[in-house]
Parts: sequence; C-alpha cells; structure tokens
Amino acid sequence: MKAFSNNFNPDLIQKYNRAGPRYTSYPTALQFHDKVDTADLLGDLKTTPGPLSLYLHLPFCESLCWFCACTTVITRNPDRVNGYLDALEKEIQLLTPHLPAREVAQLHYGGGSPSFLEPEHIRRLNTLLGAHFTDAPAPEKSVELDPRTLTEEKVRAFAEGGFTRASFGVQDVNPAVQQAVHRVQPDELNRTAIGWIRAAGFNSLNLDLIYGLPKQTRESFAETVDTVIEYNPDRIALFSYAHVPWVAPAQKILERSTLPPPEEKLAMFQVALDRLSAAGYAFIGMDHFAKESDELARAARSGGLHRNFQGYTTRDGLSLCGLGMSSISQSGRAYRQNFKTLDAYYGALANDRLPLERGYLLSAADLLRRDIIMGLMCRFCIDLEDVTHAHNTSPAEFAPALAELEAFAQDGLVEIEGPRIRVTPTGRFLIRNIAMVFDAYLRPAENRHARTI
Ligand code: SF4
Repeated sequence: MKAFSNNFNPDLIQKYNRAGPRYTSYPTALQFHDKVDTADLLGDLKTTPGPLSLYLHLPFCESLCWFCACTTVITRNPDRVNGYLDALEKEIQLLTPHLPAREVAQLHYGGGSPSFLEPEHIRRLNTLLGAHFTDAPAPEKSVELDPRTLTEEKVRAFAEGGFTRASFGVQDVNPAVQQAVHRVQPDELNRTAIGWIRAAGFNSLNLDLIYGLPKQTRESFAETVDTVIEYNPDRIALFSYAHVPWVAPAQKILERSTLPPPEEKLAMFQVALDRLSAAGYAFIGMDHFAKESDELARAARSGGLHRNFQGYTTRDGLSLCGLGMSSISQSGRAYRQNFKTLDAYYGALANDRLPLERGYLLSAADLLRRDIIMGLMCRFCIDLEDVTHAHNTSPAEFAPALAELEAFAQDGLVEIEGPRIRVTPTGRFLIRNIAMVFDAYLRPAENRHARTI
C-alpha cells in the first residue's frame, strides 16, 4: 500500500508541524493531578469488570540512550533489583483487595530494560505473579528486551513464565547514528538475540525503529529498514523521534548534531513505508507495521484496533493495571499514575500506602471525546451521529470542530460527509493534528508535547 506522496507539500509540513500528543490516552497524562481522591480512583477500579491487563515497569538500564524519554534508573548494579521486586510484591499486596478480578488476560513487562534482570530475578517475578494472579484463557504475555543485556538463559527464564511475545529496540543499525545517540548495538547482537528468542518458542517478535535521529539520512535509513526486514520480525513500530528535552534533559546532547528537518523525516518515513509494504507488511494505525497474517493486521482490517498507554492493541475492555514506579493504570473512567521517582515509590510502600501520585476521573464530556479521538486514531473514520448518540447527545455539539476541520478537508487530509469524517491516506500521517481538533484541553498544554512531524 502506498499511502503518501514522495512530494509531500512543504507548505503543509510547515502548517501542521506543531506540538501535539500521541493520544495513548484522552485526556492525556498532562491533565492528571494530585487533588483527585484516591478512594474514587480505587472505587472505579473495583467496579470495572475484569479480566486484567497487567503492566510491570522495570526501570533499570545499564546506560542511558540519549533519545530516551522513558522513566529509567541507570545502574550497573544488579543487586538493586531485589529491593525493587520487594517493593512490587508489597504494591501487589496493597492493590489486590481493590481488584475486581485476579484473572490476567494480558501481561507486559516494560521499562527500562526488563532484560536487565538476572535469570533468578525473572524466576522470582514469575513466582510472585503466579502466587497472586491466575491466567485467563490464552493470555498474551509480552516483554521488552535489550539485546545488549540479554543472555540465552534470561530468554529461557521469560519463556518459563509463559512469555511468547518479545519486543526490542533496534532504532537504527548505522554505526554513526548509534554513536550519536549513545546506543551501540551491532547487527550481530541483534541476530543472536533473535535466534535465542525464536529458539525459546516466542511466536511474536516486534522491533522498534526511530526516524529523525542525528546523522540519519533517507539513504542510511533505507539500509536500516532493509536490514530489519532481513531480521523477519512479525511487527515493526516505526516511531518519529520526539524531541522533548524539557521532559528528558539528556536529549539536549542530541542538539550538538543537526537533527533532520521535517521534510527529511517525512522522506525517511516514505522510504520505510515503501520498503515495508513491498516486503508484505501492512501499515497499522499511525506508526505500526505487521505481517498481513498477524493478529494486529487482522484487527486493523476488521476495525478491532484499540489504543492504550502501550500503543496499539487488539484487546479491549480490560482493566489496565500498572505496577512499579511511574506506571499508569486505566479502569472504566479513571486513570492512576504511580510516583515517578524510586525514592517516592519506595517511601509510600514503606508507609503501607499505595504509591499513587496523581490521577484523573473522566467526566461524561471526556468519555465522549475519548471515543471520538480513539476512533480517529484507530479506525481513521468516525460517524459523529453514532458516537454522540451513544453518549446521549448530538453532533451539533461539535459544530465548531467540524468548522475547524473544513480547513483540513481543503488540504486533502479529511473528507467530511454530514456527520461522517474519513481521514485520507495523506491525512493519516497528520492524524494527531486531526484528533487535536477534538481535544478540549489542548491549548494551554500544547507546548509541552513533541511536534507532530
Ligand atoms: S531506550 Fe530503552 S535501553 Fe535505552 S535508556 Fe531508554 S529504556 Fe533504557
């Protein structure tokens, strides 16, 4: 599928290249606050039917990649892990009385680098979760790995815990780019890690790429994409580098080199799209690719794609429970977030308190706008009549938004037919800008997001 023109209009790039969220939630995490009543958040959790989607944040990394905006703890001392696992155990003990169910349909280890854990840590975690939760039928268990800290025994320890899905960041295979971002990860390491992952019975492998990094050109990035196609992953996440040094100060270091301008980033995206499409990968959502036979591609074709804090997913209706520092949870109409520093996270647990720092309770208006924005982000098409009807209101409420979208229609980014909005293939690249029209909170917070291109 060829979705975009190689000659994407430079005026359009200029016009729409503004700060904007990635909408892994609506409202976005910028709206979370510490005045919300914890009892209300936990009450919502208790009344949201199960099963659960568990997310464990394992924050440790051996060294900092300079593009990274994740919440990490940089250390080379593996002994720090046991203290963290003690804290996770305490958090689980404090949280379980508030859970509506113990059945887990999805389990995801993210970070940080879960592969920082030694095999005995991984096995301890397997046992800990087994003691407090049960598996739903056909649970989906996935783990983020880092080939630089991975060993074959670690892969086997994850497999013993029932993990069958792995994901790791390649980002770029070019040595100059790797040096520039402080993440040296030779091709041979990637191939060895993939061999271990496949041999251990993992049936799904996702690889992450980032475009927009220093030293990248469309030619060098084409080579990276070709190499990744050779790795034969089931899925590829193709992220636009988000430059947010006010969130991740190490990104300032990248300003020493010239970052590719928006038109070069679009060219890199186009190169990747062309090559991945030719290799049989379907373009999913705004930044994912999957083999046509993959569950994600099937869900996209049937309108069954959903979006949460981990990105696109095929499973909906699960209560998302985050454990560990900085993790975010989502139940029916509430978001909760844990403390973002290790000290604050440990401190709350030492005082027998859940480590909740802030949260948000969605209003009826938020729930309606969330359905519209997620519909656009996942299906690229919504019928305002249907969505508003489901929320006991009418499309008239969105007359100003529809008027604003007229300019997008004139630029060929959407087609509007009565209450139906359909995003065009070109508009898909600017889907965040289109969704932003329906965001009631955006204006004051706009500059705290990364740019959309
Ligand atoms: S990109 Fe991954 S490995 Fe690198 S610092 Fe961030 S979390 Fe750690």
